[in-house]
Amino acid sequence: MANQEDIFKKVISHAKEYGYVVQSSEIYDGLSAVYDYTQNGAELKKNIKEYWWKAMVQMHENIVGIDAAIFMHPTTWKASGHVDAFNDPLIDNKDSKKRYRADVLVEDYVAKIEAKIDKEVKKASKRFGESFDKTQFLTTNPRVLGYQEKAQNILKRLGRSLEAEDLVDVKNLIEELQIVCPISGSKNWTDVKQFNLMFGTKLGASAENATDLYLRPETAQGIFVNFLNVQKSGRLKIPFGIAQIGKAFRNEIVARQFIFRMREFEQMEMQFFIKPGTQIEWYEKWKELRMKWHLSLGMGEENYRFHDHEKLAHYADAASDIEFKFPFGFKELEGIHSRTDFDLGSHEKYSGKKLQYFDPELNQNYVPYVVETSIGVDRMFLAVLSNSLKEEELENGTNRTVLKIPAVLAPTKAAVLPLVKKDGLPEIAHKIIDDLKWDFNVIYDEKDAVGRRYRRQDAAGTPFCITVDHQTLEDETVTIRHRDTMEQKRIAIGAVNETIANEVAMKHWLKKTE
Ligand code: ATP
Repeated sequence: MANQEDIFKKVISHAKEYGYVVQSSEIYDGLSAVYDYTQNGAELKKNIKEYWWKAMVQMHENIVGIDAAIFMHPTTWKASGHVDAFNDPLIDNKDSKKRYRADVLVEDYVAKIEAKIDKEVKKASKRFGESFDKTQFLTTNPRVLGYQEKAQNILKRLGRSLEAEDLVDVKNLIEELQIVCPISGSKNWTDVKQFNLMFGTKLGASAENATDLYLRPETAQGIFVNFLNVQKSGRLKIPFGIAQIGKAFRNEIVARQFIFRMREFEQMEMQFFIKPGTQIEWYEKWKELRMKWHLSLGMGEENYRFHDHEKLAHYADAASDIEFKFPFGFKELEGIHSRTDFDLGSHEKYSGKKLQYFDPELNQNYVPYVVETSIGVDRMFLAVLSNSLKEEELENGTNRTVLKIPAVLAPTKAAVLPLVKKDGLPEIAHKIIDDLKWDFNVIYDEKDAVGRRYRRQDAAGTPFCITVDHQTLEDETVTIRHRDTMEQKRIAIGAVNETIANEVAMKHWLKKTE
């Protein structure tokens, strides 16, 4: 595969061709930044959610899960700060008429400086060979230090201007850096404006008494407003967490990165309620635990990094992203935020209801502090899909396209293939499926030569193929072929279930998150 852009295009077309993701309402030319998950995509998405839910709710005695409504009382969004502050700074290029997020334009510029640093490191490591010390190089090489300083200064200035809502300075920064529109190549920019990302809608049958509502832009608030209901009914003691998976909606300004940035998407969020003063300890703990969850999937340690925020949201006293190396570079996959008592405190104020916890050890009431972990299901999906798609050259000179999805998440765990469509082989294959279907999602495939069927399953991401042939009639054995190694083994039909389970069972994978 050639450059990063080509790889990303390949991911998108593969997602469509193999039944993972398509644009919403495609027959009407699609809806921008809204996508549908087709048969394999729906399974992968469900498995990602289950892997998260089990790791968070089932594996932690002190975390419970809820499912709150998408519609919430409109005052919720006053209290949360979304009505006043859930804005993105937008800027238009007058020549291409394309709209951008001003902060993203600047961040992309900084990413280019960072790419230059990477290039210097690669060059030097080639030059010095074995004796190359990366840390020393990064901290002493004058050119690298210059790049680092430049990048930091830009980000600091951007952070300061956004914080102060100084949009004129954001525009100045774009002009000073001579950032051009990637489409028109021109520097003909409009002023920077704020744009609220919430979708509004109406509740009620007649226009006169309809209430203005918002589609929730995050799932977190459904957790905060239920904090006391859950704490009391579950008799939960601090520290404890409430988890939720659900849809969220944002009218994103720039939506050109497939399912990375959607207008309708899904979040997996967990709010962990703690004693004030313990937030940094828990924040660090959750950073570590969440990174372990990611690493448990074996998608390469080098593809993750933390990015601590310079600019903190209005509710946070510490925040970090887990970034993943997508085909378009390292970008946010998950956020871990220390939200203080901002949300509960604010809901107390707006609702007039006490949202406090009585701490029996301190013999005192307080508004708990919160550490949040928040990850987008769709972004996780994109991380898995883009990381798994490989083009491999085989020993015999041919190529294969294979989707090496972590087996625990794979939509279909095995395909059962009769070598030929006669001699009783299809019947045996169906019988094997009837046994396996209680435990795994499996499929039957009898079309084309078996080699082509293997390739089809490789490309669809199925970890195992089980082939029934004439020897099966004699000794009740089948060939089991492994997607990643392409190794084939003969095993008894009775051993198939266990062989698959050993590789795909959630339990084995979840153990690595501990
Ligand atoms: P970004 O800076 O990329 O817009 P954010 O910092 O606004 O993201 P959060 O509000 O922290 O994101 O949301 C938590 C998580 O939800 C993100 O880490 C991401 O995985 C996911 N997410 C946020 N917005 C979108 C979106 N428009 N489409 C898909 N996933 C999203």
